[in-house]
Formats: sequence, C-alpha cells, structure tokens
Amino acid sequence: MKVIGLIGGMSWNSTSEYYRIINELFAQRLGGLHSARLILYSLDFNEIERAQREARWDDAAQILIKASSAVKQAGADFLVICTNTMHKVADVVAEKASLPLLHIVDVTGDAIRERGLHRIGLLGTRFVMKEPFYQERLRKRFGIEVLVPTEDDMTTIHRIIYDELCQGRFKASSRRICAEITRRLVSRGAKGIVLGCTELPLLIQPSDIDVPLFDTTRLHAEAAVNLALAEG
Ligand code: GLU
Repeated sequence: MKVIGLIGGMSWNSTSEYYRIINELFAQRLGGLHSARLILYSLDFNEIERAQREARWDDAAQILIKASSAVKQAGADFLVICTNTMHKVADVVAEKASLPLLHIVDVTGDAIRERGLHRIGLLGTRFVMKEPFYQERLRKRFGIEVLVPTEDDMTTIHRIIYDELCQGRFKASSRRICAEITRRLVSRGAKGIVLGCTELPLLIQPSDIDVPLFDTTRLHAEAAVNLALAEG
C-alpha cells in the first residue's frame, strides 16, 4: 500500500473532503478498521491567495515545493495537490520535490472520456477558466473541447469561490446563481460540467444540473485511492 502525500489547505474546506473521501474509500475497499496511510501538509491559504492575486506564481510554487519535499521526506510515495488552481505550477512542484504527481486534470480528462463526452463546460477560479494550463491539457491530451462562462459569469463564480466557499460559507442564492450559469453553458452546447474548483462540489449538487457533473474533488480522491492500492 502506497503512502499518499496530500498538499492541502487551499482551502481547508475542500481538503477535509479529500481526507474524508479517501478514508471512506479505504474502509469500503479493505473493510473493517482500514484507513489510508497519508501525509497531509496543510498550508496557510492566505499566503497562497495573495501570491495568486499578485501573480507571484513562482513564490506560490516555492511554498508548494517546500511542502512537497517535506511530505516526501516523511515517506509519501506520490503527490496529490488538493486544488485545481495550483495545478498551474504542479508539474514544476513535482519535479523539484522528485515525487510522482497525480494530476487533477488528467484524472478529470479520463472520467470525461469514460463517459464518451467531447464538449464540456468548465467552472472554477478565473485562473482555471481562463488560463491555458487547464483547458489546453484537456484539449491536447484528451481531445475535449472546453466552454467557459462569459466574463461577467466568470467574475461572479470567482468571487463566490474566494469570498464564500473558501471561507466555509454556502449560500442558497449562490447555489442558484451557479446553477443558472451552468444552464447557460449547457444551452451553448456543453454535454457535461466540470466542477474545476475543489470547493464547488460543496455548493453544487448533481440534482442542480441536467447533464453529467464531474466533481474534481471526488475524482481526484478516488484516483489517489486507486493508485495507493495498485500493485507494484
Ligand atoms: N480550491 C480551489 C480550486 O480547486 C480554489 C482555491 C485555490 O485557489 O487554490 O481551484
């Protein structure tokens, strides 16, 4: 059984979901009192968010590299970075820490492909929705076309993520707004919706939406369990 190295706290609201899902799956798969062997390094999100906002991605990467090197030192076999946004620097983090990375976009791309979908709508932070590191990877590696919300809708979702969800506030009005934004993506041709922010599944439920929903938190946590339990 491999040891999972979790880099979390971005925000802790979703990291606690990873912790719960991973342990629940271990218990389901192995039975009895089994739980996961994992090392969690939880960061101060205030520092990370500030670096993101000021476009100091190298500084943010350095913080993640330090954390990842520490989990390696503590015995982790592979790295799970518990946020979509920070996958902007994930490859360099994994390389510098010399740990294999379970990439959240690859896990999501596999799940979309399994459902046989070719055009999806993407919700997440502005960085996830606008910058190439997410969309390009889905397009190039998986042949998936990505639709994103309008500028105004992106501003709304970004605000909901940082001002509410990452602070543990889940409002019915925001849930309705996100469902409306999703419906607009579906009417433009999205056949599925990627919740490309690990806090969004805490707000949006499959029942809010008529097309398949890709919950990146659950998909990433499940993939971590599969990898930890894989032979060899
Ligand atoms: N957890 C969120 C994500 O999946 C947003 C927080 C962050 O900026 O890392 O992107």
